Amino acid sequence: MAEKRDYYEVLGVGRDATLDEIKKAYRKKAIQYHPDKNPGNKEAEEKFKEAAEAYSVLSDPDKRAKYDRFGHAGVGSQPGPDFSGGFGDLNDILNNLFGGGFGGFSGGFGGFGGFGGSGTRERQRVYRGRDIRVRVKMTLEEIARGAEKEISIEKLVPCTECGGKGTRNAADIKTCPACNGTGQVKRVMNSFLGQTVSYSTCQQCGGEGKIISNPCHKCGGTGLERHRETVKVNIPAGVENGMQLTIRGEGHAAKNNGVPGDLLVLIEEVEHAELKRDGNNLMYTKIISVIDAILGTEVEVPCLDGRYKVKVEPGTQSGTVVRLKGRGLPTVNGGNTGDLYVKYIVWVPKKLSREDREMLERMRGSDSFRPNPSKEDRSFFDRLRNMF
Ligand SMILES: [Zn+2]
Ligand SMILES: [Zn+2]
Repeated sequence: MAEKRDYYEVLGVGRDATLDEIKKAYRKKAIQYHPDKNPGNKEAEEKFKEAAEAYSVLSDPDKRAKYDRFGHAGVGSQPGPDFSGGFGDLNDILNNLFGGGFGGFSGGFGGFGGFGGSGTRERQRVYRGRDIRVRVKMTLEEIARGAEKEISIEKLVPCTECGGKGTRNAADIKTCPACNGTGQVKRVMNSFLGQTVSYSTCQQCGGEGKIISNPCHKCGGTGLERHRETVKVNIPAGVENGMQLTIRGEGHAAKNNGVPGDLLVLIEEVEHAELKRDGNNLMYTKIISVIDAILGTEVEVPCLDGRYKVKVEPGTQSGTVVRLKGRGLPTVNGGNTGDLYVKYIVWVPKKLSREDREMLERMRGSDSFRPNPSKEDRSFFDRLRNMF
């Protein structure tokens, strides 16, 4: 199964994008990749579906919140629209998106070219802090119940000396004279090709557009300082190895009191000594003696909420699997709980005492020991064989 791309990445928007930005981004993709405009182009079709799926999740506040916290696992395996009946008319899609407000679309797509980039692209100086990534180890027992974890992180916070402004005196913040506050400088070059104009980041202010003449002594004018703190994170039951939780706003602070980044918590599952995980189910292999397999017995199974006694029926074949319903793990978005499967492997002794050997020799001739599988046994052996 191919790894699904991040929905924000699919639409090319930031994690803090507004609904309007998400709509606009989807509109662009829908126009670019709609199958009507790309006949026979499988790749475009896939891109179109991917964008539609991303849009259907990110445009729904509830689904978006789940996706932000739990990633793809939070919104199920088929979160997108169903295209089995066709892709729908592009005009309809666009009209639904904006309630028909974009007049002039019906005349065809010729006039679209300049539309995508013509939005409000003025440089807005809202800074966003960087995200912080941490790994958290979770045992299966913790995953079964969910856990509150304390995580120690070192992060950038607004400087306590200057309040995040970079200086104590607002009058010390001046518009950069080199770029007039735009953060970019224009360079005109003459060559045999003619005149070329290029823009580059202003060296004087580093693209900030502002210069602090008397920077704060504590943060050196960055407005930020390092601080170690402990964050409590509630990890829900049912998480899986590699899952990432997003704790909004718990990342690094941004300069000029902008939007703080997020704390991204990556789940690392600790391998269990006895149980193996398969999705929400658990597997346990129990080795039993030939005698126990023949006569039946009771064995203890390590479940995540304690040890349970489980009956081994007389005449149990090696490879038999029994199911302990509901003793698996819950799904992360609620729903059902998995089961625990116990597989019995019959162990055949390799060394025998003289008495044992004599006893077994006497039994060898007995009718009971001649293989005589019943109909059910045969179908069981067939299933085992099909596993190879
Ligand atoms: Zn400048
Ligand atoms: Zn400072």
